[in-house]
Amino acid sequence: MNKIKLLDDTLINKIAAGEVIDRPSSVVKELVENSIDAQSTKIMIYIEGGGVKKIQVRDNGIGIEKNSISMAFKRHATSKISKNNDLFNINTLGFRGEALPSIGSISRVLIESSHNKRDGYSTNINYGKIDDIQPSSISTGTNIVITDLFTNVPARMKFLKTEKTELNLIYKYLKKVFISFPGIHFILNVNNKEIYNLIPVSLINRINEIFSDIKDNLIPISYSHSSFKISGYIGNLTTLKKSNSEQFLFVNNRSIKSISLNKTIMNCFQNLISRGEYPFYSIFID
Ligand code: ADP
Ligand code: MG
Repeated sequence: MNKIKLLDDTLINKIAAGEVIDRPSSVVKELVENSIDAQSTKIMIYIEGGGVKKIQVRDNGIGIEKNSISMAFKRHATSKISKNNDLFNINTLGFRGEALPSIGSISRVLIESSHNKRDGYSTNINYGKIDDIQPSSISTGTNIVITDLFTNVPARMKFLKTEKTELNLIYKYLKKVFISFPGIHFILNVNNKEIYNLIPVSLINRINEIFSDIKDNLIPISYSHSSFKISGYIGNLTTLKKSNSEQFLFVNNRSIKSISLNKTIMNCFQNLISRGEYPFYSIFID
């Protein structure tokens, strides 16, 4: 047996990336969630080659200070929690400080950011190696461009499916975000073609844009209790589908899966639907 030694940071991040980032859709998820946490009101997402060639997320959020840009790529570095108690009162989508170092270790990253609309700064991270911070022309928010994803992790690359399948997984994730944050302007551009340009609207209008012309077949839900609130929309029998791909549950705006809650909702349709039929629902528990 060889001597036991501590691994260097780049290798630690690369190993950890295996858990946080398993395919292009996880990169999209982490970057978009960071933009939402940064209070952005407009988020633009550009995808090329199913995300392997390029994933770019540009926001108009609070940005990152010059001195924090390299810190953001260190493991367990986060601005979202700082003490034990914070774990019981999380108001952001992220808090682990693992996404950026993981992404940085398995791709080439360009990051540009302007904190509070002051001067902009940028740097590159190539497979875990961070360059010096340079002045940049960016004047609002943060722009992150990921290229050559997984090119230094052949095992991961081999495990990826076709461009179409990877893209569908990205759409599947983004649709959930689009409906859980209808107040954010989202633009999605795939292979240089604009797929969505979703201006801020009410929840029902956002749902209607994503699941074309479903509006008239939705029943609003609204229930409040001292400690929680349930809201959203449930579809009538016109919205039945052969798969459960249009059933969404959110707790504090975070998408969740719950067999028991799903069963409870489906029980309302008892005797009205057959096996293998699934009505639309998008329910928010706060
Ligand atoms: P986490 O989101 O769990 O804190 P990340 O690795 O995703 O960890 O990000 C590290 C830190 O970088 C965040 O805590 C945040 O301070 C900063 N950051 C990342 N993306 C953005 C962004 N788009 N706008 C502003 N700050 C960001
Ligand atoms: Mg994050």
